[in-house]
Amino acid sequence: MRFEYAPAPESRSLVTLRDSYGLFIGGEFVAGSSVFKTISPATEEVLAEVTHAGPEDVDRAVAAARQAYERVWSAMPGRERGKYLFRIARVLQERSRELAVLETMDNGKPIRESRDVDVPLAAAHFFYHAGWADKLSYAGFGPSPRPLGVVGQVIPWNFPLLMLAWKVAPALACGNTVVLKPAETTPLTALLFAEICQQADLPPGVVNIVTGDGATGQAVVAHPGIDKVAFTGSTAVGKEIARACAVSGKRLTLELGGKAANVVFDDAPADQAVEGIVNGIFFNQGHVCCAGSRLLVQESIADELLDALKRRMASLRLGDPMDKNTDIGAINSRAQLDKIQELTSSGETEGADRWSAPCALPDRGFWFPPTVFTGVSPTHRIAREEIFGPVLSVLTFRTPAEAVEKANNTPYGLSAGVWTEKGSLILWMASRLRAGVVWANTFNRFDPSSPFGGYKESGFGREGGRHGLEAYLDVLGGGDV
Ligand code: NDP
Repeated sequence: MRFEYAPAPESRSLVTLRDSYGLFIGGEFVAGSSVFKTISPATEEVLAEVTHAGPEDVDRAVAAARQAYERVWSAMPGRERGKYLFRIARVLQERSRELAVLETMDNGKPIRESRDVDVPLAAAHFFYHAGWADKLSYAGFGPSPRPLGVVGQVIPWNFPLLMLAWKVAPALACGNTVVLKPAETTPLTALLFAEICQQADLPPGVVNIVTGDGATGQAVVAHPGIDKVAFTGSTAVGKEIARACAVSGKRLTLELGGKAANVVFDDAPADQAVEGIVNGIFFNQGHVCCAGSRLLVQESIADELLDALKRRMASLRLGDPMDKNTDIGAINSRAQLDKIQELTSSGETEGADRWSAPCALPDRGFWFPPTVFTGVSPTHRIAREEIFGPVLSVLTFRTPAEAVEKANNTPYGLSAGVWTEKGSLILWMASRLRAGVVWANTFNRFDPSSPFGGYKESGFGREGGRHGLEAYLDVLGGGDV
């Protein structure tokens, strides 16, 4: 039975959009070399004009960060830095509805997800790292770990505010200052975050935000005044950054793509597994680096599970991301939609069977229906390449050993899921899966205290938890933090 829902739109009036936004450098919004427009992917309407930072603007931002590092932030006792982080966390909570609406407008993700996942987790990251700021000497990195200096951070468009929090909170807690470049298609919550830094009286220059495109990111990464680079995004750009940093001696952490296996055994609780598969691949339109984009299902239950999955997919509601009942929002950009369409066409050409949930796509904006491919072979592009959209590729296996072999048959290694009632099988699988995170009987669960990161082409370094602090500390140095 299909339920009809009355519209339940969240109010756009919670957000006051400016016509244009400057760069956030030295605690102020300043003009830059040129401007570009950011649009709503759900309607293609222009939301605001944003400044494009050229190399000279990046230079100013790095200089402001250096000054703040040397004069204020690195010398400030950890307990004082912690107070600023607590303040930012509280303001994020106070302004959470505004942030959620703005994120949904700029990114296209359902308001239910920005409200219930992105914004609360972003605040949680600041609370968590605020708690660490005065305890770094007890974190197991020696008695007096030192900050690294000025950190250049480049983030993607899939979780704009949350990725900012993953990057900025640990950097600041450890005594570094930052120059952050948000993605070209989703700059608005980072610019609202800049206002929040002002509201929290954060000393000028501790956080600098330079909006722009890939060239701006390149300028941040290559700047000689940057001591450490932290990047989340595609593996291709990650490799480019690794090459640039290798010759400069900068510290580097990379969080890149994934092609995670979600492995379902025949004794798994079926309804729960179906919800986990749906959450694993259709959460955030599949724009998730750790998405469970390959379903590995034990052959004996494959038909039954796929029927249940298709029934569930048919009940997903696609449409206006601002509607509180929406499950599947808009694809973030025309370029990403083109990529998804190209890869899914290759799936059909290579011989896999495509099934899409029956749902009407809105006339304007960028949309793709939840889609599942069966009859997939491990050599198909849809089984190997990151699609980064609401597309699931299904493979089968007979034994646990075959499941492990197929799950690990990928250049990536970010995450995996295991569904079974047997605790011993979960542990057996977890110790063999080459993935930074292995979820058992759940998927896409995040917590600031739990380190996240990859193996192989999914990158290196960890974000979150005690392990994540190490990326922002000179653990061999002396002195007080
Ligand atoms: P990119 O890796 O190009 O973008 C990530 C960030 O890096 C953005 O801020 C981008 O700027 C910036 N950037 C781009 N080129 C450079 C460069 N040479 N030096 C420094 N910074 C740079 O990802 P895309 O947005 O192009 O997405 C392409 C594919 O990457 C997706 O289809 C998906 O498969 C994967 N991806 C994976 C993510 C993950 O979390 N693992 C996140 C995003 C994408 P700008 O936005 O202005 O181009």
